[in-house]
Amino acid sequence: AAAGEESDVVVLGGGPGGYVAAIKAAQLGLKTTCIEKRGTLGGTCLNVGCIPSKALLHSSHMYHEAKTSFAHHGVKISNLEVDLPAMMAQKDKAVAGLTKGIEGLFKKNKVTYVKGFGKLASPSEVSVDLIDGGSTVVKGKNIIIATGSDVKSLPGITIDEKKVVSSTGALCLSEIPKKLVVIGAGYIGLEMGSVWNRLGSEVTVVEFAPDIVPSMDGEVRKQFQRMLEKQKFKFMLKTKVVGCDTSGDGVKLTLEPAAGGDQTILEADVVLVSAGRTPFTSGIGLETIGVETDKAGRILVDKRFMTNVKGVYAIGDAIPGPMLAHKAEEDGVACVEFIAGKEGHVDYDTVPGVVYTHPEVASVGKTEEQVKALGIAYRVGKFPLLANSRAKAIDDAEGLVKVVAEKETDKILGVHIMAPNAGEIIHEAVLALQYGASSEDVARTCHAHPTVSEALKEACLQTFSKAIHI
Ligand code: FAD
Repeated sequence: AAAGEESDVVVLGGGPGGYVAAIKAAQLGLKTTCIEKRGTLGGTCLNVGCIPSKALLHSSHMYHEAKTSFAHHGVKISNLEVDLPAMMAQKDKAVAGLTKGIEGLFKKNKVTYVKGFGKLASPSEVSVDLIDGGSTVVKGKNIIIATGSDVKSLPGITIDEKKVVSSTGALCLSEIPKKLVVIGAGYIGLEMGSVWNRLGSEVTVVEFAPDIVPSMDGEVRKQFQRMLEKQKFKFMLKTKVVGCDTSGDGVKLTLEPAAGGDQTILEADVVLVSAGRTPFTSGIGLETIGVETDKAGRILVDKRFMTNVKGVYAIGDAIPGPMLAHKAEEDGVACVEFIAGKEGHVDYDTVPGVVYTHPEVASVGKTEEQVKALGIAYRVGKFPLLANSRAKAIDDAEGLVKVVAEKETDKILGVHIMAPNAGEIIHEAVLALQYGASSEDVARTCHAHPTVSEALKEACLQTFSKAIHI
């Protein structure tokens, strides 16, 4: 839309929720404008989340493999060193290329891109403070709020992005810390902890809950924790951080057992606070037009992603549900389909989750604990990677595949994979769940040999019959 012209759809925020919604809206023939305050598109995910973290995970994995595994594979290397600035530069290049790519997609699809901070002024108007100075009002028949989420600190801890960092700071440390303490054992803490652990930091993870990644299947989680401990991660579970002193050279954290008790001090060079994220929904004019949020600040929407204000929608991290880029994208597409008068649909029961450590841990559907709690009679099929020929051939055989299926019908209810490339393998399971497949359906599907994917086939076989290779 040209300046001053009314759009059919105005998207506030250019993250994976917002930019995908904008492109889809334009593809459906709607005149679309997207407002982004950051100066680059792609949101948290591309700029300070999924993409830079995966870049560093890959680079640090290569170094770690070279250091610990190459010799065993008969590859000799000497004078191995980390060039941290070069590693950061490769990450930055990947990010810059991808964010520019979205600008290109906006041009191709004729999405108008407004760079600035937008605030809802009415149910059909967003006032924008432009990055380059001045302000404007963008008008739209429909407005989609896709403002995403932001890092969250803890009481008594100030993030300075130098000694006490959020995930954003942990993606661009200028030196490898000797001691890194990670507060919060969720996937972001474990991924960033892995990066620095591989590069040589001593990593201690402090977690209030009794378990790491609480949403994970219990049995897989136990193996996962053991595997991280083998990689020299230290865990302090059921522990809370009650103080943080940055006055000296490093950081001194005061810890206390979650149930109360004697305090201890834990020293670190750098502390990463990764205790969750908070929806970015204040200061954007929600009060002005009366959009309802819950106590956590998440915008409440109906099945069509509409808020309580007609014509105003919300998607992604700003609404309830898993804070994941692919979930935000699905929300964005479905929301725009509704706006265009079509049917939209997101199946929240089949949103996969991946922890990009090594090996990766990926899951879809229900955990065994969830199935049990629902009182559903079920069977479990498991296959260890140690019995998978490809995993053995490449000497990367830590992990397992676990399938939970309904006893009566054999329908797959959940799949949990800890394996190299589990984040790729999981999609076969996602598709199986999407189509209501039984474990026999997957077991009778021909899988290429030798692949790690065969472990999924064997776990499915094991669910209703017997695996061949164990
Ligand atoms: P965001 O990506 O947060 O985008 C919102 C955008 O809106 C931002 O660019 C913001 O600047 C802009 N904005 C906000 N308010 C305004 C305003 N008033 N005016 C203009 N613009 C505004 N998810 C995965 O699925 N896989 C991963 O591997 C993964 N890794 C992650 C690693 C890290 C370190 C982090 C922090 C997150 C990771 N995530 C991952 C989560 C993922 O980044 C988010 O779920 C996803 O970005 C949410 O998309 P969104 O579009 O809802 O919001």
